[in-house]
Amino acid sequence: MSFYEVYNQYKNMDFEGYFSKLTENDIHRIINKDKISALEFLALLSPVAKGSLELMARKANVLTKQNFGKAMILYTPLYLGNYCVNQCAYCGFNVNNPIPRKKLALDEVELEAKAIADTGLRHILILTGESRKGTSVDYIEECVKVINKYATVSIEIYPLEQEEYERLIKAGVDGLTLYQEVYNEQIYDEIHIRGPKKDYLNRLNAPERACKAKMRNVNIGALLGLDDWEKEAFFTGLHGQYLQDKYADTEISVSLPRMRPHAGAFTPKVNVDDKSFVQIMLALRLFMPRAGITISTREEPEFRENVLPLGVTKMSAGTTTAVGGRTQKEDTVQFDTSDKRTVDEIKEMLLSKGYQPVFKDWQLL
Ligand code: SF4
Repeated sequence: MSFYEVYNQYKNMDFEGYFSKLTENDIHRIINKDKISALEFLALLSPVAKGSLELMARKANVLTKQNFGKAMILYTPLYLGNYCVNQCAYCGFNVNNPIPRKKLALDEVELEAKAIADTGLRHILILTGESRKGTSVDYIEECVKVINKYATVSIEIYPLEQEEYERLIKAGVDGLTLYQEVYNEQIYDEIHIRGPKKDYLNRLNAPERACKAKMRNVNIGALLGLDDWEKEAFFTGLHGQYLQDKYADTEISVSLPRMRPHAGAFTPKVNVDDKSFVQIMLALRLFMPRAGITISTREEPEFRENVLPLGVTKMSAGTTTAVGGRTQKEDTVQFDTSDKRTVDEIKEMLLSKGYQPVFKDWQLL
């Protein structure tokens, strides 16, 4: 069984019909439960639940403190290369965008890692486009070994086979971030115009392959804006729960990336406003109390601060989405970020709000 079977159980359900039958009392009853079912989670994503966000927020705050205290894990992305063979309609690195392409040499990777370590951060998320030729698994493995001298490493790269995940784990990788982008299979096919990423199932099953390989942390998500957010958030939660139930040794977390401007023209289907974003975060926290929730620098500084108590456990800081963005003169970014504060500024903000900034969340002894 794979998550695809769970997706198929719900993909044709009448979401609007289900939402139309819900009452405020139903929502209150669900909020007060210790454990909520998949359909109750969906109810928390409904329009009627919008009137109960305050109640949901109180519960989410309690659950987050119970499970995570007031620790906030900090990480930063490091773009190794921007070669990509895919044509994803929504991305600035897509093969059709005439941008300069490059990848960092190992000594350049080391300079970037050192620049990050100088800020105090000890957790790096490495990213590439999808090109097995431009940024091969061999190359990524070498980069991991270099970066490991300065920080722990997670990867946000193209989907790999289980054996390849095992190999990178052996080299020092401890976490995987892999967004399905959009769970709606038809929209997925439309916006992934060409390239290996067109293979929906290969991507959908990749987080599970990483769990089988015994990845310590697996982080999933949907790129909010590509389809109705209620459905996408629902499938994200179901996917997270499926992995959590099946792979108890792996820490499952969820990111909520909202679409940002990028090189090329693409208009998101849906505008996910702040209130809806908060609703997704709260519903996820109530459905999956033990799941990590990441909020990136795609979001505005003030908004990031406001949602801290509602379930966030991990934040990016000192971010650039350009290859070699810290040590080289580089202006081709994958997308624009909103929170441009330095690591020190984020650290001070967290301390002022009573949070403990965590620069390195674990180390193998
Ligand atoms: S989203 Fe990833 S795979 Fe798609 S074009 Fe951008 S870098 Fe390439």
